[in-house]
Amino acid sequence: QTASPLLAVRDVSVVFGGIVALNGISFDMKKGQILGLIGPNGAGKTTLFNCLSRLYQPSKGDILLEGDSILTRPPHRIAEVGIGRTFQNVALFPNLTVLDNVRVGTHSRTNSDIVSDSLRLPWIRNGEKAMNKRVHAILDYLELGSVAHTVVSGLPFGTQKRVELARALAAEPKILLLDEPAGGLNHEEVYILGDLIRKIRDDRGITVLLVEHHMGLVMSIADHVVALNFGRKLAEGTPTQVQNDPDVIKAYLGSK
Ligand code: ATP
Repeated sequence: QTASPLLAVRDVSVVFGGIVALNGISFDMKKGQILGLIGPNGAGKTTLFNCLSRLYQPSKGDILLEGDSILTRPPHRIAEVGIGRTFQNVALFPNLTVLDNVRVGTHSRTNSDIVSDSLRLPWIRNGEKAMNKRVHAILDYLELGSVAHTVVSGLPFGTQKRVELARALAAEPKILLLDEPAGGLNHEEVYILGDLIRKIRDDRGITVLLVEHHMGLVMSIADHVVALNFGRKLAEGTPTQVQNDPDVIKAYLGSK
């Protein structure tokens, strides 16, 4: 018997003008899985990532979260259904503290009316207190407690990336979409990041989709890998299966 997938990508195509960036992509993500999305430059990874985070509308196909289409949701409502994301280039508020940046994450899961009401209504203010407690717990969890009151722009890049993760976690996502999290990190930082992603999955049961060029990271933490090339799905399977797939090897050698 097969459990129904948490997320189902069904025959998704994206056409920009005349360019077919994605051509009939289908795959499933199971709950608690770490899925690595790989492919040479221009393969369509970012385009697919942007469909999942609702920045792009597919020309064809559907994306289902727990059986319901997410395509009717505007991008700013996507956190509410449980999809969180980080950005390739850190996208934090540089002049705000770590604490305030992560608090922004909690609001993306809340109706904006409730947030503004929280300034007036005492019983909702209690909700804010609970939120603050949650934010501090997340900061401690990601070992950011000691920099909670530090302005983000003064922190090392690796730490800023962790703040972004904290902000995404604050919205209590079911699925975390990570856009090239290893970009700009040194070898040791990538290793720490890999452990952290696995820990988040293990401790919180969060499902992770990882778009990544750093093959070492993908191969060491992904349970399942989907390889794209020229907008099509080239292969999928365990990291070992995909790494040894002749079409994948050819695509990577051919692109370099
Ligand atoms: P990289 O690893 O270099 O980031 P990628 O796998 O993320 O590549 P995409 O950025 O998704 O690939 O690009 C897939 C194809 O779609 C490419 O041919 C690209 O030129 C094209 N493309 C992507 N975004 C747009 C856009 N906004 N308008 C037109 N064409 C686009």
